[in-house]
Amino acid sequence: MKTEDIEALVRPNIRQLCPYSTARDEFGGKLGVFLDANESPYPTGWNRYPDPRQKELKARIAPIKGVEPENIFLGNGSDEAIDLVFRVFCNPGVDNVVAISPSYGMYEVAADINDVAVRHVPLGEDFSLPVEDLLAACDARTKAIFLCSPNNPSGNAIPNETVFDILERFNGIVVVDEAYIDFCSVPSLLPAIWRYPNLIVLQTFSKARGMAALRLGLAFAQPYTIKLMSMVKYPYNINESTQRLALQALEKPIDKEVAEIVAQRIRLVHKFMKYTCIRRIFPSEANFILVKVDDADALYAHLIADGIIVRNRTKVPGCKDCLRITVGLPEENDKLLKSLKVYEEKSHIRR
Ligand SMILES: *Cc1c(COP(=O)(O)O)cnc(C)c1O
Repeated sequence: MKTEDIEALVRPNIRQLCPYSTARDEFGGKLGVFLDANESPYPTGWNRYPDPRQKELKARIAPIKGVEPENIFLGNGSDEAIDLVFRVFCNPGVDNVVAISPSYGMYEVAADINDVAVRHVPLGEDFSLPVEDLLAACDARTKAIFLCSPNNPSGNAIPNETVFDILERFNGIVVVDEAYIDFCSVPSLLPAIWRYPNLIVLQTFSKARGMAALRLGLAFAQPYTIKLMSMVKYPYNINESTQRLALQALEKPIDKEVAEIVAQRIRLVHKFMKYTCIRRIFPSEANFILVKVDDADALYAHLIADGIIVRNRTKVPGCKDCLRITVGLPEENDKLLKSLKVYEEKSHIRR
């Protein structure tokens, strides 16, 4: 696809949109006497509106990610970027998107809110991606395909070659949600945004970066798409404290924590193999492990009684009797293993 083809995908009202222009935007942001935005002149530390373009933060993120600031959209969590894909490209009640199943729940929620139909393509029994089914589910009104790699809740990653194949054969937007990419052995698709104007890569500060409370999500794409998303977002979508704290956070490397979590994930998988209540352990490239157990509701209740909260996915299509377990601190994982052992002993007595 070419950039002109992307333009044809955009909702007509968005193509014609004249976005809200903030006072600081028109002025250019040099130092001065600010009598333009009806702010309080008294310094509280927070009396000025934040930078609506997040210039400083984007300039800091760009070299880390190997992109230009024009390739970056910052959102109030990835959730804002997901919602904006619908608001920019999908005509309510007319267009549709295609998503894999099971996957992250927000794609469908955002679709429902925007009155856009979602076509679910079931993953294989081992959660592999059936590319032909995915493309067959698309029609002339399919504006976007949502992929998630590593996928939540299954934990597996999609090979990059598979995504390239989809990007080349689908004439619409391909969103690849890389929320868990830092834990993954498959490299990020970020460098491919130059080659594919229809690719949007999502990342977040919420997982490996350890900043879920900040609410900062990132979308990477070619400048044309980033401009559209920036035009539709609320002008001050990233508040001043988030911008400042994100800049601080970026000074600190996360390699140690990520390596520790991956090591703990491997340790948990090895330990899980010894439990007969765990019937199947799905290979994970993320900071969680999906397991199929003898009775998900019973084990979930047992863990809750021990003060351990995991995610019961048994009602999710393709996840019958599956629990999704986040990798915690070593001592938290120890508690989990201990509780699993007690459950196992109890169920032996029952039998
Ligand atoms: C946790 C998660 C996110 C993060 O969303 P934020 O809004 O950035 O916190 C995004 N995608 C997936 C698949 C996730 O599991």
